[in-house]
Amino acid sequence: KAKSVRSGHHVYRSADNRHGDARLRTVQELRLALTEDQLVLHYQPKICLRTGFVAGVEALVRWNHPERGLLFPDQFLTLVEETGLMHALTQEVLRKALDQSVLWSDQGRTLTIAVNLSGSSLVDADLPERVGAMLSARGLLPTALMLEITEDFLMADRDRARDILTRLRASGIKISVDDFGTGYSSLAYLRDLPIDELKLDQSFVFPMADDVRAAALVASTIDLAHGLGLKMVAEGVENGVAYDELVRYGCDYAQGYFMSRPLSAAALDEWLTARQS
Ligand code: C2E
Ligand code: CA
Ligand code: CA
Ligand code: CA
Repeated sequence: KAKSVRSGHHVYRSADNRHGDARLRTVQELRLALTEDQLVLHYQPKICLRTGFVAGVEALVRWNHPERGLLFPDQFLTLVEETGLMHALTQEVLRKALDQSVLWSDQGRTLTIAVNLSGSSLVDADLPERVGAMLSARGLLPTALMLEITEDFLMADRDRARDILTRLRASGIKISVDDFGTGYSSLAYLRDLPIDELKLDQSFVFPMADDVRAAALVASTIDLAHGLGLKMVAEGVENGVAYDELVRYGCDYAQGYFMSRPLSAAALDEWLTARQS
């Protein structure tokens, strides 16, 4: 019996080591992704529901892995967070997003670009100054950029969050609360934190078309946002029924596969051109 336990243990150990090696390789690969310019941004259009115009885009990171192909955030962001590389990733994403913004502005396109910030960005007290410097180095207006934060960003350290958001907003950058409704925070922060927009999580939008209670929840949340002087964005709009309902409820903006999936810069350019004509 003891023998089988030992051999079992041995098997476990070697499997564990193999996992360790794989992980080590991935961490090194992750560093390479940053130094060798393997991260790419895709852009999902954000539609103004009042006019039907494209108000802006959300930048969503992908990793163009040399062997494994295009990787999505759920395949690598946890590791980025665990290895302390999130700060570097955020810088890289901001750089790429703002460089793209310059290209669009040269082409005469006015598109506000939204960048996702993870909760750990909060440790970076110099974020407002650094973002401001990145904008002015490119001759971009602060209105070219929006930052999407989640409730965990707001809740981890309220005073710190307030301070950073206040400085960002004073410089003219707009703030959106992403995945709204999924956090465990109270609604009290809506009263006193400097934010511009709520982004209703897709899990509320998906069931809307065939569930009246889900629809009522969405409608009330839109009214809540408006009562507080905030804009409302719905994400995960996958069909015309949801789109039409959101228009009817007075939702300000929408994103989703029904309008467009996230696209490469080149594909977005084609999509925008086709839509204009
Ligand atoms: P998110 O910020 O909530 O972004 C929305 C996600 O939903 C995106 O997935 C988008 O492709 C997807 N989506 C958009 N419309 C639809 C739809 O109609 N139906 C469905 N089923 N999905 C839709 P993606 O690109 O895989 O990103 C996943 C998450 O990774 C993001 O969720 C965000 O939290 C994170 N993320 C992405 N890029 C960055 C980044 O640059 N920095 C940080 N910190 N996080 C990022
Ligand atoms: Ca987002
Ligand atoms: Ca979201
Ligand atoms: Ca999400």
